[in-house]
Amino acid sequence: MKNNTISIALDGPAGVGKSTIAKALALELGYSYVDTGAMYRAVTLFALENNIPIDADHQQTMLELAMRKEFRFIFSDGLFQVYFGDRDITDEIRSLEVTRNVSYVAALPAVRAGMCALQRNMAADANVVMEGRDIGTVVLPDATYKFFLTASVEIRARRRYLELSARGISVSFEDLCREIAARDNLDSSRSHAPLRKAPDAVEIDTTDMNIEEVVARILSYME
Ligand code: C5P
Repeated sequence: MKNNTISIALDGPAGVGKSTIAKALALELGYSYVDTGAMYRAVTLFALENNIPIDADHQQTMLELAMRKEFRFIFSDGLFQVYFGDRDITDEIRSLEVTRNVSYVAALPAVRAGMCALQRNMAADANVVMEGRDIGTVVLPDATYKFFLTASVEIRARRRYLELSARGISVSFEDLCREIAARDNLDSSRSHAPLRKAPDAVEIDTTDMNIEEVVARILSYME
C-alpha cells in the first residue's frame, strides 16, 4: 500500500489492554482510532440478530449485512462510540453472547477479506492507530510502526474481571480465564490471518506494566 498517512499497528491477544492503549496513543498523537475487533463484533451481532448460522455457507450473507452501511468510530472527550450507519452499537457489540461467538465469525475468510479492505481504506484516508490481531501481518504489512502486546492469561482475565465488575456485570474469574484461553486458541490456530507477531513488530510484555508505562514505552520507540 502506498500513501502518505502514518499508521500504528497494535496487535495482541484478548484483554491485553490494546483498546485503552490505542485510544491513549490516538489522543496523544491526534490520529484516528480504529478498533478492528469492533468490526468483527458488529458482523457477529448482525448474524445473531438475523438468526444467520455462523458457518462457512453463510459468510457471504454476513458480509453483505455488514456492508450495507458505513462503520464509524467516534472518539471524543474520552468517550468511544461505534456506529453502523446511524445506529449506535457500542454496548451491544460487547455483550457476552457476541464475545462468545466472535472468534468463529472472525475465522471466516470472506468476512476477513471484506473487513480487511475496509480497514485498509481507513488507513489510507487518515493517520491511524489500528488495533487488532492481524494488523501488522496482513492488513497493514507496511505500517509505519508495529507493536505486539502480550500478558499472561491470568493477568488479562483479572483486568477483564475488574472492567466487567466496574460495569456491574458479574462473571466468575475462572470462567473468564477459560474464555480468554479459548479465544486465544481459536484466534491463534485459524488458517486465515491468525493472531501472530509480525517479524518486524516490537513486542512488549505488559504483565508488570500499567497503561501509562506501555504508552510511554511505545512513544519512546517511535521517537
Ligand atoms: O479485540 P476484540 O477482543 O474486541 O476482538 C474480538 C474478536 O475479533 C477477537 O477475539 C478475534 O476473534 C477477532 N479479531 C480478529 N482480527 C482482528 C481483530 C479482532 O480476528 N484484527
